[in-house]
Amino acid sequence: MANKTIAVLAGDGVGPEIMPVAVAALEAVARHGGHALTFRPAVVGGRAIDETGRPLPDETLRAARTSDAVLLGAVGGPKWEGLAYEQRPERALLGLREQLGLFANLRPAKLHSELAGASTLKQEVIENIDILVVRELTGGIYFGTPRGVEATPTGRRGINTEVYTTEEITRIARVAFDAARARRRRVTSVDKANVLESSELWRQVVTETHAAYRDVELRHMYVDNCAMQLIRNPRQFDVLLTTNLFGDILSDAAAMLTGSIGMLPSASLGASTGMFEPIHGSAPDIAGQDCANPVGMVASGAMLLRHAFGLEDEAARIERAIQRVLALGYRTRDIASPGTRVVGTRELGDRLLEHLDG
Ligand code: NAD
Repeated sequence: MANKTIAVLAGDGVGPEIMPVAVAALEAVARHGGHALTFRPAVVGGRAIDETGRPLPDETLRAARTSDAVLLGAVGGPKWEGLAYEQRPERALLGLREQLGLFANLRPAKLHSELAGASTLKQEVIENIDILVVRELTGGIYFGTPRGVEATPTGRRGINTEVYTTEEITRIARVAFDAARARRRRVTSVDKANVLESSELWRQVVTETHAAYRDVELRHMYVDNCAMQLIRNPRQFDVLLTTNLFGDILSDAAAMLTGSIGMLPSASLGASTGMFEPIHGSAPDIAGQDCANPVGMVASGAMLLRHAFGLEDEAARIERAIQRVLALGYRTRDIASPGTRVVGTRELGDRLLEHLDG
């Protein structure tokens, strides 16, 4: 029996609407499995700015650090867009990643067959796609120095620096190889080794790390080719391992193959507490209307059970419930198609809870 604490950071926009659905699902499967989960709500993002003046108050960071996992909704919205970059709600995400040492971002892009019609690609191209993007999250060009914009005699110069160390590459490569062992045992490492020295090192170190994973197939692919292959033949991919910048871009492309941004979960992992959140933002355009798709949030709860607590059966139970509810034709507006039944966030949540027991 597990006895665990989860920091619950609902955030802004649709966050507080979809979070209760995920918490109810986690409570239900935990009860069924005889596990005790304690939920610790804390403010983050815009709401935290309104209440405390800061997007990531100390108390919230403490709750995150001292919990066994963090479940996050989304942050941000037009109300806070005028603030200086350092004070904006989105800074809370970077703060949490940095403070919790979350160096690995896992984003599964799996197509629910019932939603094949929602993708912009042809059904025969996307059928059965099941990709896991493993993105390095705390290194590379987003953090490298020197950086900044400086004056030159003729104008200005903008600088960012792509930096990777062997340690950073080895630890993210291990995450990808370990994940592949629980899947189809194929890793595609994506780089730009024909142009960038840091990518050359990336390729060498991934190859060296692979020596301990001979049961997993490894191939290397240039990022431009990978972008093309994702659209041309996405079924060829199992685990996609890549850098912070390339992963940022490729994971959005992979996500959109599956049709809707509201469906997909993510996990950010490090040495200790992991953070789990849907891939979408706070969707201010639909907030407060009871029409946000809660599936990405609920599926993030399933990832939390699997990756943070090792509760595979409970995670699978949630994923089966999602599958069943979709198969029965229930849809939120963003994934509706002719012949399906459009329901609100709350009702979709109720239907999910009904189907959690199988
Ligand atoms: P977004 O993901 O919030 O929304 C993009 C589009 O997808 C919108 O039309 C929205 O209605 C729709 N959408 C998103 N989630 C949905 C859901 N669950 N169900 C149905 N439709 C959904 O991205 P955006 O509009 O670029 O950003 C809005 C705000 O969110 C900004 O302040 C941005 O900075 C922030 N943001 C936060 C995160 C995060 O918290 N991790 C991520 C991205 C953006």
